[in-house]
Formats: sequence, C-alpha cells, structure tokens
Amino acid sequence: MRQAMFPRKARENVMARALRGIAPKRRLPHMAAPLIDPFQRPISYLRVSVTDRCDFRCVYCMSEHMNFLPKKELLTLEELDRLCSIFIGLGVQKLRITGGEPLVRRNIMSFFQAMSRHLDSGALEELTLTTNGSQLHRFATDLYSAGVRRVNVSLDTLDDTKFADITRWGRLPQVLKGIDAAQAAGLRVKINAVALKGFNDDELITITEWCADRDMDLTWIEVMPMGDIGNEDRLDQYWRLTDLRAKLGEHYTLTDLLERTGGPARYVRIEETQQKIGFITPLTHNFCESCNRVRLTCTGELFMCLGQEDNADLRAPLRAYPNDDSQVENAIRNAIALKPKGHDFDYSRQDVAGRMSRHMSHTGG
Ligand code: SAM
Ligand code: SF4
Repeated sequence: MRQAMFPRKARENVMARALRGIAPKRRLPHMAAPLIDPFQRPISYLRVSVTDRCDFRCVYCMSEHMNFLPKKELLTLEELDRLCSIFIGLGVQKLRITGGEPLVRRNIMSFFQAMSRHLDSGALEELTLTTNGSQLHRFATDLYSAGVRRVNVSLDTLDDTKFADITRWGRLPQVLKGIDAAQAAGLRVKINAVALKGFNDDELITITEWCADRDMDLTWIEVMPMGDIGNEDRLDQYWRLTDLRAKLGEHYTLTDLLERTGGPARYVRIEETQQKIGFITPLTHNFCESCNRVRLTCTGELFMCLGQEDNADLRAPLRAYPNDDSQVENAIRNAIALKPKGHDFDYSRQDVAGRMSRHMSHTGG
C-alpha cells in the first residue's frame, strides 16, 4: 500500500533529483501541512462536479426543464486541473469525478488524462467517477488508459419502461452497453441504486442477482431531500434501508462488514454470492464523525458538507491569482476550518426538514 502523505515513488523521484542537484518538479504532498478540519478529521477525499448538465432527467434529481449555468460560470478544464492539483498537494488522495453527468462535458477525457499524472507520481491513490453510464461505451477504454480502475454506475431498475420513466430521457439498453464496455475495458463496476418504495422494491432480488452474475458490487442509496424539483411525493418514495436490508436478509445470509470509507456507506457481504452490498443512509444514521470528504462544484464552490449550505468560493481566488497557488491554498484552508460537525437532514417529524434548495446535480451527489 502507498504510504499516506509520503508516496514512495514521489519521494524517490525527489531524492534522485536532489542527488543530481535538480529542484523538485512539483511540490510533494507532505511539504504542505495536510488539511485537518476543526474536529480533527483529515480531508483526503475530493468529489468534483465537472458539469451541472446531464443527458437524463431523473425524477428525484432534476426537473424536466432545468436552467443550466452559463458557460462563463463554469471552471474551465484548466482551472479544474489547477484546483484539483492544489488539493492533491494538500493531501487529497482520492478524486471522484461526478456531475451532472461528467461524461457529457466536452473534452472531459483530456481532464482525466491530465489527472493521471498525479497517479503516476504516487500523490493520488485513486481517480474514479460516478456516471449514469450513457456515454461509457464511448469512453471506457480511454478512462482505463487514464488510470481509472473503478466506476460507479447509477441504475435503479432493470425494466426498460421503468427506466425510461425514472430517468425521463434515459434508455436502458444504452446504459447496459456502457456497462459491458466498461467491464470489457477492465474497469470494475459498482452499481448505485436509489431505493424507491413502490418503484424498485419489487426488484430487490432481481437487481442483486443480476449484479452477482456480472461480478458487480451494489450500493443502495436512500432518497435524499435535495432541490426543488416539483416532486412532492418524496416522503412517499422514501424506502428505509433498514427495511430493505431486512428484506434482503430473508433471502440471503448477510454478514456485516467493518469496512468504513469515511463516507455514509455501510456494507454487508452476501454469503451465497460473496457480493458486497452497500447502504448509504444519510437520513437514518449519523456518519459524520468519520467524514473525510469535501465537494467542489463546477463553479468552484467548495461544500464542506452535503447536508449544509455553507460553502466557499474558490473560483474568485483562482481567477484573481492565476500565478499564485498560495492564495488558493489559503482559501481552501479557511474553508476547511468551517467544516461543520454534522449535517441537518431530518425526516423524523415526517416533514422534509433540513431540505436543501440546491440540486444533487449541483454538488455532485
Ligand atoms: N449523473 C451521474 C449519475 O447519475 O451517476 C453522477 C451525478 S448523480 C447526482 C450522483 C448520484 O446521486 C447518483 O447515484 C444518483 O442516483 C444520486 N442521486 C441524485 N439525486 C438523489 C436524491 N435526491 N437522493 C439520493 N440520491 C440521489
Ligand atoms: Fe443526471 Fe445523475 Fe441526476 Fe440522473 S442522477 S439526472 S443521471 S445527474
């Protein structure tokens, strides 16, 4: 395993260059103090939304007619590169690219290719993405070449008609083709499914077995109160993952896994299939104590917590100081100093209290 904050390959490179009297090519991660929030949680995971646009309109995520951001508001791919590289210099070891749909951003492969230099240097441990799968058939091989080894594909149903209903604009065969391409390219695929009562509760076993047949892990996500999407049935759709887990337990032998990723997911293994099943339950469990992540939007806002509105504008220092990364670093450190202890979601009063006005596609899920 790579040594955290002091990657062997990078250390060797620098030592070799120092022995030859050459200055280091780039700042080593350990040379800057790592990002530690006020609750002593090290920040090692950055999720980056590279676009707010999407070729689907999932009913729990977007309204059918969305107003997207004007182009000038978005960070350019060069700005995203600079910002991500600064974060990596401050100890971020895992980068997840998301959106909107990341693979619809023009020329996004050049960004993945650029980020692969941080994998090569050893500073970055993992470069990965969350996608709806619609464009995977086009990009799977390029993603693998850029060093991506795992992708999360969001898929809530295996029924063509239901798929078209829930995504409004999506078509299941295209996503299945993308998953085939990803696996053929050597990418490990994990399926993310939003648990929706009255929609996919009848597919629990079908989806599990389909994933088992294809050697894919599966994570269920509780529907979250994000954005004003004109869907007043959100509470009706809410399917407790404790209920889902109990239903799964009626069919299979489940073993709790101790594995923690610093995020809201908890895992079990299905003994019969040896699959890992994840449960993301931000509304029923408090996962904040081990939170190691922050989220960057495509406009350069840094959200310290998915469940709170506080954010810091990193685009301003990025554009004001094109040649001075230390100003951006300071802005990042000031923001991390404000990371809250926990989130505000609460369904307990049978009301969508703590509802966020922004969309999941804005912060990237
Ligand atoms: N477009 C990509 C995709 O769908 O995978 C990446 C962005 S999407 C916002 C990231 C994840 O958020 C997806 O797995 C999606 O199902 C999930 N998501 C979106 N809205 C949600 C909501 N209201 N509650 C729970 N999960 C949600
Ligand atoms: Fe697009 Fe993903 Fe949101 Fe669906 S969940 S509308 S695919 S961003």
